[in-house]
Amino acid sequence: MPRSLIETLIDRHMKCVRCGAQMGTCRCWEDVTLRCPKCRRTKQVAKDILDPIETATVEATCNQCHKRGLSAPIRYFDSKGQEIEQANAGSVR
Ligand SMILES: [Zn+2]
Ligand SMILES: [Zn+2]
Repeated sequence: MPRSLIETLIDRHMKCVRCGAQMGTCRCWEDVTLRCPKCRRTKQVAKDILDPIETATVEATCNQCHKRGLSAPIRYFDSKGQEIEQANAGSVR
């Protein structure tokens, strides 16, 4: 039996697009700490689709430092502070 459009839409919103789990039951979209390696400022941001799932901290150059010409490669750390090896580079934030 074909599903109605509204059921399909609800289904899409209720399931995590990363792991397929019921929304709210997985840890794919928890906030992560964004830390600038240049000025050491931190802020809480929503996890990005490009971030590894186990990410707790992202080290990335902030906009202000980026404008001043400073930049550093993006690094990811898990909740234990261990760096996560990342094959594909993320986006500048
Ligand atoms: Zn998930
Ligand atoms: Zn900065």
